[in-house]
Amino acid sequence: MRPKLIAGNWKMNGSLNSMRSLLSEIKTKFIYTPAIEVAVCPPAVFIPEAQSVLQGTNIAWGGQDISEHDFGAYTGDISGSMLVEFGCKYVIIGHSERRFYHNESDQLTAKKIATALKVKLIPIVCVGETLEQREHGITENIISQQIDAIIQQNGVESLGKSIIAYEPVWAIGTGRTATPNQAQEIHAFIRNRIAKHSLEIANSIKILYGGSMKPTNAKELLAKSDIDGGLIGGASLDAQDFLAICTATV
Ligand code: PEP
Repeated sequence: MRPKLIAGNWKMNGSLNSMRSLLSEIKTKFIYTPAIEVAVCPPAVFIPEAQSVLQGTNIAWGGQDISEHDFGAYTGDISGSMLVEFGCKYVIIGHSERRFYHNESDQLTAKKIATALKVKLIPIVCVGETLEQREHGITENIISQQIDAIIQQNGVESLGKSIIAYEPVWAIGTGRTATPNQAQEIHAFIRNRIAKHSLEIANSIKILYGGSMKPTNAKELLAKSDIDGGLIGGASLDAQDFLAICTATV
């Protein structure tokens, strides 16, 4: 059985004070169960705060992005070893907001995955189609391109140490969620795509769903056989909602 993971993507929200309150509320109210892993990904400057509050708990933390370079003259970038130095376990890679606002390609995403794996960070790799692509009936082509680029560049083994988040772009921050069946269909498609290269990795890889997951829809989504957790944006900024989603997994 694949233990579920619920990860919060806090994006570029909050202040030191609000992050402190959020972290401490999550820490105090979180009830640990071995069946589920929980992580939060704060803005990079608040990662040390996450480390200081969450160290020694069962809640992990991670970055929202990583440089494809190990170190050097890359103004504004953050390296994998820096994330590791502040205790990060995970790093989100290839989020649709990075792909859209920063023109990050499938190839760059694959490169960042390789860089993360070098320092033993667990990449949470986002894939997903836009509304236009879904309406044109090319969802599976888009997802295949995104997954195949990783396998071609890094080998299927790289997915053995990664997590995938299926995030239909049209469902992110829109309040519109994929139905459990729509999500399950694409999750199964992703697993089958990986199975063409390695059945073992296809069976073990966690595939999270992301896109307006909330306490009200989490249970139904998380009950699907190929949905192994959630990447939560908006609802992860409210400790009560985030923890309610965590509880929905059990
Ligand atoms: C996300 O951006 O990863 C996400 C899932 O956002 P939201 O939950 O707000 O749709």
